[in-house]
Amino acid sequence: MQTRRVFLKILLGLGAIALPWTGVGYKVKSVVEPLLAQPRAKLYLIPPEAQTINEYFQSESLSRTAMDDILALSSGEMEGRRAGAVGEGRASQYLSREMSLLGLKPLGDKERSYAQAFTIPEVKEEFVGSRLTFSVGNTQMLRAPSLNLLGGLVGKTEKEIIVISAHYDHLGVYKGNVYPGANDNASGVACVLGVIRRLVREKETPRKTVVFAFWSAEEMGFLGSKTFVANPTIPLERIKAVVNVDTVGNGMVGNFGLWTANTTDIACQAVQKAAADAGASAMQVESGGHNSDQISFAQAGIPAVTLLAREWLVNNHTPQDSLGNVKIEQVELAADIVYRAIKSLAY
Ligand SMILES: [Zn+2]
Repeated sequence: MQTRRVFLKILLGLGAIALPWTGVGYKVKSVVEPLLAQPRAKLYLIPPEAQTINEYFQSESLSRTAMDDILALSSGEMEGRRAGAVGEGRASQYLSREMSLLGLKPLGDKERSYAQAFTIPEVKEEFVGSRLTFSVGNTQMLRAPSLNLLGGLVGKTEKEIIVISAHYDHLGVYKGNVYPGANDNASGVACVLGVIRRLVREKETPRKTVVFAFWSAEEMGFLGSKTFVANPTIPLERIKAVVNVDTVGNGMVGNFGLWTANTTDIACQAVQKAAADAGASAMQVESGGHNSDQISFAQAGIPAVTLLAREWLVNNHTPQDSLGNVKIEQVELAADIVYRAIKSLAY
């Protein structure tokens, strides 16, 4: 009965069917898979050494790389991940699947859910030079649904929390052009997923609880992180520091910047030291009127910092922010910095 339930969940949730690792399994896969093109489904062969189907998929998730995540999130299927649009839904499914397979505790607004639901107002598109941006339009119009995703690695105490975050939304499709957002911010999401996988692989229980958050509607004025601060799914006063990652994948490798209101707080200090230890540079830089989700927390008096590539503006908010705009070694270095920061803040 238990097995059947797991099987059914995978079937319904992921469009995937698991088969035992036998000659019959191979045969069924080769014959049936081509017939499943519409709707698209995939057959998996489960090797005998995997104790459960879940274990098999977890090992598959643990072997994924930053490149795999960026490829998936900036693919045509994700349609630029605009908050409120179908691409955001696909991206949120991808992320909640990874969070579930990696065993994070669901910290959404309902029990056993990673999602925190909120609504977004109508937005207007406008160009600032060659950059497409959103401004909030009529707030009385019918609002579209959007989702933050939150999951935790429970520490020895849940009374002290460190948040690691990245926004996963981008600009979507405008006038027939897809804005893939490979750097902004599939790179930051890949960086956070890389940190989760590294910590899960190490199996060490942290001293404090680490919460991983993927915000949406950042491009519409930090709406996801603002929603969380206004209606937190975990007590806000327990959050001791926030390390946010945004657009970390381009420019000279090792050349990062920090957006922070306070260079002496523990979040900024931890990231600066982590960058130095990783052989990179991360100095406070002028935001020049731009910002990211750390601002929602800073305004609530919580130490918060955003790590970004120093040259983040190159190709930003243009259709050219595709895979070619990202250097994978730069994303991996950013992940190493965030990993070192979290080790010092929470372990
Ligand atoms: Zn952006």
